[in-house]
Amino acid sequence: MSVVSRERPATGEDMRALYFICGIGASIIWAGCTITPSEDELSSVASETDPLYADSTTIWKRLKIPVCFENATGGNATGRGWVRDAITATWQEHSKLIFTGWGKCASDADGIRIRIEDTEDEPHTIDLGRDLDGEEDGMSLNFTFNHWGTACSDPSRREFCVKTIAVHEFGHALGWSHEQNRPDQPASCTDEPQGHDGDTLVGPFDDESVMNYCNPSWANGGVLSSGDIRGLQAYYGHPNAASMRIAAVNLGEDKFYFFRGALYSRVDADDLKMDDHYPRNIASNWGNWPSSWSGGIDAAIRWNSSTAYFFRDSQYVRIDIASKSVLAGYPRSIAGNWRNWPSSWTSVDAAVDWDNGKVYFFRGSDYLRYDKASDQVDAGYPKPISAHWPGLFGANIDSALNNGDGKAYFFKGNAYDRIDIDDGTFVVDDGYPSIIAGNWPGALF
Ligand SMILES: [Zn+2]
Repeated sequence: MSVVSRERPATGEDMRALYFICGIGASIIWAGCTITPSEDELSSVASETDPLYADSTTIWKRLKIPVCFENATGGNATGRGWVRDAITATWQEHSKLIFTGWGKCASDADGIRIRIEDTEDEPHTIDLGRDLDGEEDGMSLNFTFNHWGTACSDPSRREFCVKTIAVHEFGHALGWSHEQNRPDQPASCTDEPQGHDGDTLVGPFDDESVMNYCNPSWANGGVLSSGDIRGLQAYYGHPNAASMRIAAVNLGEDKFYFFRGALYSRVDADDLKMDDHYPRNIASNWGNWPSSWSGGIDAAIRWNSSTAYFFRDSQYVRIDIASKSVLAGYPRSIAGNWRNWPSSWTSVDAAVDWDNGKVYFFRGSDYLRYDKASDQVDAGYPKPISAHWPGLFGANIDSALNNGDGKAYFFKGNAYDRIDIDDGTFVVDDGYPSIIAGNWPGALF
């Protein structure tokens, strides 16, 4: 396939960099390219940051992503090591992603397939995210810079250039479009959009993303900005999520809410896309949020159209759904306010309203059933999860969600189970557990 790339005329002002346009070629969409560094930029590595412009339809559905080189040789081993080191220290370090392989591509290899080449074409990917899966020559990287980015050919800069460009191109390979493509690009950012757009604005626009041509530091020197990391973790999880408080709830309004640590995301119930400008901080966006609760919540349920309850350790708060705020007088202790609550239950892992007058609470390997009409835990509880929920995670469920359309979802680690509420059997559906990434873009776990 032929490739069309146009060079933007260099004026005095933007001699600092030549930008190649990743436009729409005759037969191919250049989803990703990177910019040519000038000598000045190579000497100044700032640490600013910006958020991400994600194409949530291309988020990988697995967290182990194979990487291989089409033309790996002994001669390019050093450069390949730089790429691996750079990606391991950035996109992998700050998420649940694991990049595997890194050897020579088999003819039928899946995952990210890299061609090492020194041509006048800019380094690029031919698509975004999982659309690259198994695509031959899906990513092009330059290790020698004799024809493009010749400032990088200096031996003292080559490693920096290879690593910085790799971090940018792997951003495309994870599903990120160029930051300057965002519709909320400020007037001060005049670089032209390149490649196709994302569909989700993650966080506010900021100049420091490795994906932003308007970053005054070229590709941020290959250092992920705080916004990059936040966006990465919104789709590919937090590396230490197991130690964080996690919750999920359907508050009606066709929106699901996912809580992880101090952050939460809002997801559209129809397409499961994260809404623009999420994730956000819980404490600064939910009214009257208790200062002692800034680290997040353990579980959440929607009680009725106006009221929800959030739980943390041995306490709970009552939420006014309309105003997204905590009512006065909360938090209160669960014990004494939720009748027949077992004294050994000093916290909750997960909770879900079953839409039949019953709410289920989970803790360790046990669960409780709460009757809303009589406002008390039903007699005979807690019981073992395994006794009544065939196929469900047997213990330590992170969160549970009733989607309002007859399905309940249970999340644990990287995986989730689905149960049909309406059939009344409490049996996990065939094909589960499945992996969260890609299937719940923006679930924040
Ligand atoms: Zn790019």
